[in-house]
Amino acid sequence: MSENIGKVISINGNLVSVEFYGSIFMNEICYVKVDGTSLKSEVIRIKGNIAQIQVYEMTGGIKCGDSVEFTGEMLSADLGPGLLGQVYDGLQNPLHILAESAGWFLERGNYADGLNCDKKWEFTPTAKVGDTLRVGEYIGTVPEGAFTHKIFIPFNLLGRYTVKSIVSKGEYNVKETVAVITDERGRDIPISMSFKWPVKRAISCYSERLAPVETMETKVRLVDSFFPVAKGGTYCTPGPFGAGKTVLQHTTSKYADVDIVIIAACGERAGEVVETLTEFPELTDPKTGRSLMERTIIICNTSSMPVASREASVYTSVTLAEYYRQMGLNVLLLADSTSRWAQALREMSGRLEEIPGEEAFPAYLESYIAAFYERAGYVRLPDGSTGSVTIGGTVSPAGGNFEEPVTQATLKVVGAFHGLSRERSDARKYPAIDPLISWSKYGGVIDSKKTEYCKKIIHKGREIDSMMKVIGEEGTTIFDYIIYLKSEMLDSVYLQQNSFDLIDANCGRARQNYVIDKLIYVMGSAYALESKEEARDFFNRMRQKFIDWNYTEFGSDAFKNLEFDIDTLYEEGSGSLEYEAECLLKGGE
Ligand code: ADP
Ligand code: MG
Repeated sequence: MSENIGKVISINGNLVSVEFYGSIFMNEICYVKVDGTSLKSEVIRIKGNIAQIQVYEMTGGIKCGDSVEFTGEMLSADLGPGLLGQVYDGLQNPLHILAESAGWFLERGNYADGLNCDKKWEFTPTAKVGDTLRVGEYIGTVPEGAFTHKIFIPFNLLGRYTVKSIVSKGEYNVKETVAVITDERGRDIPISMSFKWPVKRAISCYSERLAPVETMETKVRLVDSFFPVAKGGTYCTPGPFGAGKTVLQHTTSKYADVDIVIIAACGERAGEVVETLTEFPELTDPKTGRSLMERTIIICNTSSMPVASREASVYTSVTLAEYYRQMGLNVLLLADSTSRWAQALREMSGRLEEIPGEEAFPAYLESYIAAFYERAGYVRLPDGSTGSVTIGGTVSPAGGNFEEPVTQATLKVVGAFHGLSRERSDARKYPAIDPLISWSKYGGVIDSKKTEYCKKIIHKGREIDSMMKVIGEEGTTIFDYIIYLKSEMLDSVYLQQNSFDLIDANCGRARQNYVIDKLIYVMGSAYALESKEEARDFFNRMRQKFIDWNYTEFGSDAFKNLEFDIDTLYEEGSGSLEYEAECLLKGGE
């Protein structure tokens, strides 16, 4: 702790002004001493010898004259083995440890180490005495769940270092010295298995940033086929309250093709986090068969927790994501909801009496949002391997109005947009991603010519639907009516997906390709259907067959039987493949 101290001179909500002596810096962490407890705070503005600090805790009881101690450190995360499976608050306090000491109600001023210092880890050295190391390189590994956790030299050590000594293979805790390295000027630096990193600074120990080109399969058909996300890319999911943002993120966190998932529950209701907390330890990871929690970290700062640490929770979670990326892993960070984070920024900005921007958000909102999403990326690491951080954020605009500042600022920086619509969720068409407004700049699991063909049918179907609302079904030609039925079928059998069915929710690349070909075959054919009733009946039956097909295991006997039923029904309707679809299917082979 530095020598610097100060005293409280005024209090405005969680914004406290402090007169200080000595020198302090922006974003320095300090503690306000109240009734024997210390409340963690951060310096957010300095003017002369007055500092304004935001207190991360409930501020009741703070009085003028209370003393403040400055730490000389920035808000940092502890990085090292033992992060996986943890549930943290926004300041990286492990919540179950706090719960053990405080019981049901968390008291303020109660902090715990982010990493368990007693637990021993099996360290295997990979560096030898005399080796030269640079930042981003590692001295050894420990097994952590299903992963090999690399023990890096701390990311703030720039330059070249020589290994002076290193322990032999054995069990050590995260604070014990496992190696001593010497810098270019001959100074010795002891290294343990953990170190701190200031959360507001991006970890940049990589040799190059690569373009995100590989699709991150979420197993959600509508996403992977039509509006895909790339590993190392960014996407946002705006939608009105209750449209299914949280359910969609949870489905993604279970099935996405990534190594590690970090869930940042930011300012949303506690009940949703409780669901995750009770559900995840019971679920098994479809890839490894181990508990899903072993590859998950949850950072939660629910609406009932102090608002200032909401801001911190976003940065803490992205820092942990970047740390695991450095090990060559693919990490997915899901933030729910970034609107609540923006509201925390707005609240502080108001207290600071800054000139407000649009809808009273601070004028720097856009650059803060951009800086957050910019921490995503697909990178080449010093050892030649690659790692990625993919960021997906939900946005909850009031009334589902996408013209508001947070949605607009987010849309400017993300690579894919999954807009949820009230209309679809009210009709219980899940996932409620609206195919007419969503977009993506990334490549997906399906040939883009095929998805274009499907989108065309959806667009036409929607046009005919709105026309029918005006002129009625009678005024519509059978030709148009069949296009409408085809688009409805495509919607209900392919775009809609049951998140709560184990087989349907987990629809991989091979299956998506297989099913879309069959659908294009069925949709791209002409039929001998005389009347609208006949057409409606035919497509209803076809639709039901496809829906049943979705619930069977890919390649199983049941799957083959239903495919046979689809083919039989196709023959019944005397389907004949049209030229356009034929070319499309041939080209795809
Ligand atoms: P939001 O986070 O957008 O406010 P939620 O994700 O909590 O909305 O979803 C609200 C409700 O909608 C859920 O409790 C669930 O009943 C229903 N729902 C959302 N997505 C799905 C889905 N994919 N399948 C079935 N029901 C869903
Ligand atoms: Mg939600």
